[in-house]
Parts: sequence; structure tokens; C-alpha cells
Amino acid sequence: MHWPRRPETTVTQALDVCCTGMRDDAEETRLRDRLVDMQTAEASYQRRAEDGDLHGLLTEPGLRRHTNDNPDPDKQALLRIYDLGMVTRKEGRALYDRIKARALYGNCPLCGIGEVDTLDHYLPKAHFPLCSIMPINLVPACMHCNHDKGPAVPGSPDTQPLHPYFDQLGQGRWLVAEILPTTPVAVRFSVQALPEWSDELAVRVKHHFIEYDLDRRYGLKAAVHLAGRRHRHRQLLDMGAELLRETLREDAESWMQSNPNAWETALHFALADSDWYLTKGLDEEQTLHPDV
Ligand SMILES: [Zn+2]
Repeated sequence: MHWPRRPETTVTQALDVCCTGMRDDAEETRLRDRLVDMQTAEASYQRRAEDGDLHGLLTEPGLRRHTNDNPDPDKQALLRIYDLGMVTRKEGRALYDRIKARALYGNCPLCGIGEVDTLDHYLPKAHFPLCSIMPINLVPACMHCNHDKGPAVPGSPDTQPLHPYFDQLGQGRWLVAEILPTTPVAVRFSVQALPEWSDELAVRVKHHFIEYDLDRRYGLKAAVHLAGRRHRHRQLLDMGAELLRETLREDAESWMQSNPNAWETALHFALADSDWYLTKGLDEEQTLHPDV
């Protein structure tokens, strides 16, 4: 997964842009009257998140979480300014599109395989209306991940979703794969915590992996890839198992340069390390003829 860079645009600038072209003067005044609250929320958000206390955001007073006991009187206006001012009207839409475009290759940072087609509110706007147009709360995402996101308000720090703008996973390789000796070949993906991670971060990354169904989703990608490479791998195997192993390792190293935690990187290292794949994995009888 490639984390996008954090947007530099502030909530102050976002509100200005989102109010451009607005025809309801009373609603605009109502929203502008809340700018100080939005600025306070943004400063609190940034401070907590940079301190590594994302779970603390849920109870941070500066964010003024909307609850039945403590409702935000402007909740509906704050939701509308996102839907109409940022998603729909062209001035705000330009900002929306700029944040989406921060995802490398248009790839969803949460899964690394989906195409970015929306912005995900890291803190859900229904619970945190003051964060509805706050750029640091808006993360490019694919529809799958946007839909799959777990409970709106995680119950513990261990289940706090990863935040691409604030969580630091480092440069090491933590996504690993295992080749399963099955017909057709199957691949299991998992997370191997890096030594520099805290226990809490290790649990959160594993939770993220499960929450976004990444073992299954990467496994499907790997199955298609292996079917497509099967003929080539057999050709190389005919020239010697070590040649195939070396080629797989070179492919892994090449993927590694691009992204140490791409599913392709993990897959190719696992294939190169799999004696089973290099001996029996490419047998003719492994060829898949799916019953349709
Ligand atoms: Zn995704």
C-alpha cells in the first residue's frame, strides 16, 4: 500500500471553496459562524493524530462529536456543505478531485488494488460533522474499501483503522505470502509485524488486513496472475528449476523497488521460496479447467 501525502489545504480554505457559488446566504452565514469550531477541530485532530493517538480523536473535546445527548445543531448544514459544496459544485469539486488525485497511480491506499473513486471520511461525518470537509479527514478510497470500513466508532485502540496520512508503517516488508499446494495453486497472504512496530500498531495492521478482506482479495488477484504466467513459468522450468527460481526472485526484487508491500512482491518472493511450486506446482494435471 502506498500512503498518499497529507493534503496541505486547511479547513479554512476548504470552507471558502465549498461556499463559492452557494445561493443560500443564511446557510452560508451559519457555516461561516462555525469556522472557528472547525479550525479548533482541525488543530486538535492534527495534534492527536501526530501524537499517534488516533483513538483519542473519538473523545477529543475539540472535535465535538455529535451524539444524542450532545447534538450538533448545524449537523445537517455541515453534511450538506460536503455533499453540495464539495462533491457537486465545480469549485469544491476541484478540491475533492485534487485530494483523490494524491493516491499514487489512482490506486486505493487502503487496499492497494482498487481504483480510487471516492473520498472516505476517516472520522465519519455523521458522528463528527465538524470534520465533514476537513481535508486531513478525507482519504482517497475505492468503493469496496469505502463500503467495507468497519464500525463507525471503533471500540478500542486495537481496532482503530489505519490512517494513511498519519500512521507510519516504515519501509520494511510486512506483507508475506504462502503458496498452498492445492489444485489450482492458491496463495495465502498475511501480515508479519516489523520489529519497529509497537504491539498496538501490529494488531491494528492485522485488523486492517482482516477488515478490508485483503487475504481473499489479494488471493483472487494472485490466482489470475498465476494462470496467466503459468505457460511462461513452465517454459523456464523446462530450462531448469533454478532458472525459474532466479527469475521469480528477480521479479520479486523488481516489485520490491516499486512497493515492498504490494501483493505482487509478496507473491513472487513466496513462489521463489516454494520448492513445491518449482517441482510439482506446474505439473500438467495442475492445469485448471473450471466447470462453468
Ligand atoms: Zn480499496
